[in-house]
Amino acid sequence: MLIVSELQKTYPTGDEALKGVDLSVEGSETVAMIGPSGAGKSTFIRCINRLTEPTAGTVELDGEDLTGLDDEALRAARRDIGMIFQEYNLVERLTVMENVLTGRLGYVSAWAAFRRNFPPDAIERAYEILDRVGLGEMADKRVDELSGGQRQRVGIARAVIQDPKILLVDEPTSSLDPETSETVMKLLTEIAAEREVPVLINIHEVDLAIEHADRIVGLHDGELVFEGTPGDLDEHGLDT
Ligand code: ADP
Ligand code: ADP
Repeated sequence: MLIVSELQKTYPTGDEALKGVDLSVEGSETVAMIGPSGAGKSTFIRCINRLTEPTAGTVELDGEDLTGLDDEALRAARRDIGMIFQEYNLVERLTVMENVLTGRLGYVSAWAAFRRNFPPDAIERAYEILDRVGLGEMADKRVDELSGGQRQRVGIARAVIQDPKILLVDEPTSSLDPETSETVMKLLTEIAAEREVPVLINIHEVDLAIEHADRIVGLHDGELVFEGTPGDLDEHGLDT
């Protein structure tokens, strides 16, 4: 369970990107964070695993406050957080399989990817997950040969193989066409539900949020301005 309390971020430029945001995500729910560009959505996700350092507030994952951790403890905690990015953040010159395995072994073991020296059970798990995302046949292809939708499915597989306590997803469909976006969102939320992993997903397409999320929160100018079900949002609209 993720409990974010009074999260604030003021950038060195003076931009107040987050002005004290509270949010909990638990069970196997999918929470979509929507809001216009510049609302602070990306900052919020990045502050959770401290890719960006929050200015104030706490971020508890299963009872552990991540904001107080030293570098080593933070590295360990990040292994429990699956990240999926807009631009995929894959290693282009490595194969699909190697990219997925970096999720399993973590950044510290990156060299194993280059030595192609992975434990057989990790490879077996990676094949299972690649089959699940429909890329079983593509394991040996280099990422730079893949389409955008295929890349994002590799991104999902890489995050899921970590057995994360939560999936944090930052604008997963911004680089994809509408049809592929739909497929990716469906796959992501289905896999998360199967594995009972909660998901927090930033998405600016309100339609996709309404269709795929269990709960929607609206962020505007660094503050939460809406929280409700997709049905609530459909009925009242987002007043921003
Ligand atoms: P969103 O993801 O909703 O588009 P962001 O979190 O990217 O919003 O941005 C929130 C605010 O913080 C914006 O005003 C943006 O200009 C500012 N911001 C984001 N990143 C930085 C940065 N590295 N340095 C300074 N300001 C930033
Ligand atoms: P070069 O020889 O050009 O430095 P490398 O083969 O070392 O390139 O790495 C290519 C890119 O992939 C680099 O940007 C590196 O930081 C990144 N990289 C290497 N290993 C990993 C990994 N396990 N996970 C994510 N990125 C990685």
